[in-house]
Amino acid sequence: MISLLGLPWDGSSSYARGAAEAPPRIREALRSPSSNTWNERGDDVGSPGLLEDAGDLTLPDDPAAARATIEAGVRALLERGQKPLLLGGDHSVTYPILRAISSHRAAPTVLHLDAHGDLYDSFEGDSFSHACPFARVMEEGRAARLVQVGVRTLTAHQRAQAAKFGVEVLGADRWRDALPLVARFKAPVYVSLDIDVLEPMLAPGVSHPEPGGLTIREVLEVLGALQVRVAGADIVEYNPRHDYRDLTARVAAKFVKELAGLMKP
Ligand code: MN
Ligand code: MN
Repeated sequence: MISLLGLPWDGSSSYARGAAEAPPRIREALRSPSSNTWNERGDDVGSPGLLEDAGDLTLPDDPAAARATIEAGVRALLERGQKPLLLGGDHSVTYPILRAISSHRAAPTVLHLDAHGDLYDSFEGDSFSHACPFARVMEEGRAARLVQVGVRTLTAHQRAQAAKFGVEVLGADRWRDALPLVARFKAPVYVSLDIDVLEPMLAPGVSHPEPGGLTIREVLEVLGALQVRVAGADIVEYNPRHDYRDLTARVAAKFVKELAGLMKP
């Protein structure tokens, strides 16, 4: 069974708040009668036993306590034999998620789709900022391998960090090169999907809109190249305060349905 768990956290966002309001908006789009519960692969994610809704975690205001709560919440799902599909929240949530996942079994290969590398050692004095999760993940060996697709904002510092940690970066101009690479991934695989990997004109509801992004179809092609079942995934950085007519909520809900298909046993 796949478990949908909301992580209403935006206390580690460096620029705009609002991502904490995302989980209920994504659920609303998922249940909207304007669409249905079937994905492109022919799975009915509304059918009993496929995708359960575990609700949202209640997170304390203190960032360290919030991270501990997220880690414990994901660990509880794993211990019940559930596959976690997490709804952010800002991208800082991925570090505690990967702590739980890598301690439960092996450190996974991580497919990270994002306009940003999120590899800062520290950002504005915060080492747990949403600009930093993958630096912490790599330092602690929480990913066996990190492959980033769609990145288009790397600073010199982040390039140095990527080299230091052996991160494989395929910029937005090279997303097609990700297809054969992703097709060779071995299990376990974790997907971290930052909505701002998309062209902001297609998904305006993000905190850091970055032109030059991928289309929804291109992201689906990258995900569809995976030949192994996905062990866990997050959809992060949807910011309803910046959305237009719930367009981006629908995009996030679409990814819930398609990722559930890739996670299905
Ligand atoms: Mn990110
Ligand atoms: Mn981003």
